[in-house]
Amino acid sequence: MEEIFAKSIEDLGHVHKFTEKELSILENADKAAEEIAETEFEHYIKHEVNLDAPKTAKKYGLLGIPIKEEYGGSGSTHLIAVLAKERLGQLGMSFSSFYNVQVFLASLTIQRWGTEEQKKKYLNKALNNDIVLAFGLTEPEAGSDPASMKTTYAKEGSEYVLNGTKYLITNGSIADHIIIFARNSENQKQISAIMVDTKSKGVNRMQLKEKIGLFTSDTGMIELENVRVPDSGLVGEEGKGMHVAYSALLNGRLGVASGCIGVIEGSLKAAVSRAQERVQHGKLIGKHQLIQRHIAEIRENLEMARWPVYMAAMQRAEYEKDPNNKALIEEAELRTALAKKIASRLAFESADRAVQVYGGFGYSLLAPVGALFCDSRVSRIYEGTDEILELKIAEEVLGKDFEAFS
Ligand SMILES: Cc1cc2nc3c(=O)[nH]c(=O)nc-3n(C[C@H](O)[C@H](O)[C@H](O)COP(=O)(O)OP(=O)(O)OC[C@H]3O[C@@H](n4cnc5c(N)ncnc54)[C@H](O)[C@@H]3O)c2cc1C
Repeated sequence: MEEIFAKSIEDLGHVHKFTEKELSILENADKAAEEIAETEFEHYIKHEVNLDAPKTAKKYGLLGIPIKEEYGGSGSTHLIAVLAKERLGQLGMSFSSFYNVQVFLASLTIQRWGTEEQKKKYLNKALNNDIVLAFGLTEPEAGSDPASMKTTYAKEGSEYVLNGTKYLITNGSIADHIIIFARNSENQKQISAIMVDTKSKGVNRMQLKEKIGLFTSDTGMIELENVRVPDSGLVGEEGKGMHVAYSALLNGRLGVASGCIGVIEGSLKAAVSRAQERVQHGKLIGKHQLIQRHIAEIRENLEMARWPVYMAAMQRAEYEKDPNNKALIEEAELRTALAKKIASRLAFESADRAVQVYGGFGYSLLAPVGALFCDSRVSRIYEGTDEILELKIAEEVLGKDFEAFS
């Protein structure tokens, strides 16, 4: 197994007793990451969405890690899913983004809130990569404040009719089904989550290509023009859409945070290897003390980032047993906000340091640090910006009376 990843598992072994099955899943995550690295690099250089990567993830059973066995998954805990995602994060956050949406944001949301019919319809197909899923919350004018969304649905007989635009949606232009959040046109207070089949009439999509990273990940804009969805597409109760969205983001944020640990590990691995082979001023650059500082800082970042993420993942086991328990929800929100805020900042800083160790070659997508640097910036934005998470953390500490917004 890849050395840095093996060390994470060994360190965690002090607080978690891994079963044989869990270790075998993590071995598979390691093998899948090795294999995905080859195609990921080629596609990254060409700025092409990598559709080979999900096939490899499926081959190694990664798309169903936290999905219950009755739907064909491994039935594993968040901790194991987080560790698998950590390993994938070493490749950058592009495939990680696909994975985060397919598994953490969409499949887990269907598993938690979907009807039995929806679970049977989507979960097994999603973990077999037979369908791609997406999560459509953000709009051009509703990002950090998703509750101000303008997309609407109207009930007509046994159908919902949707109108609006969703923007910056991962997997948006390749997904077969998207969980769309929309407001009831007759009762503005009601927001609901509705599963939209992207083959439906009135769905228009556009790929957003002009990103500054995540080159192998699809990001799309979706226009919905009188799109008719059978009412069996409602996910969760009508009017409880924001509840569904926030519980989905709780999983999604944890997924992003674990990918960030991978970015730090990838940065460390690359920086160490460069420091041990590049010679300047007559000696290996790793023997220059200022380069040693970069390496020590990245190693410290790894230590600071991973424990809040593991803690949040382990606490999730408690929360999953009693997901309506208010105290457990609040603890999960705090731990997840801390984990994502800390890990994403340290991931970006680590990738920056790794680029510095590489010098000019680091400012290139041909160097292993290029993708880590370009990709990791987004982790401070999507699924809750730094600022929104800070407000969440402050509110949890100060109390509800200090809530910055509701
Ligand atoms: C590559 C990519 C993929 C994405 N994938 C998805 C996806 O799959 N599904 C999805 O629904 N969305 C997705 N998003 C959207 C993402 O979640 C939003 O970009 C994010 O929530 C921020 O919203 P915004 O971009 O509208 O920024 P804004 O909300 O306009 O924020 C701009 C700035 O203002 C700050 N700000 C806003 N409100 C406050 C406040 N009250 N106090 C202090 N500061 C504040 C923000 O923190 C930020 O710094 C994706 C985004 C990107 C870039």
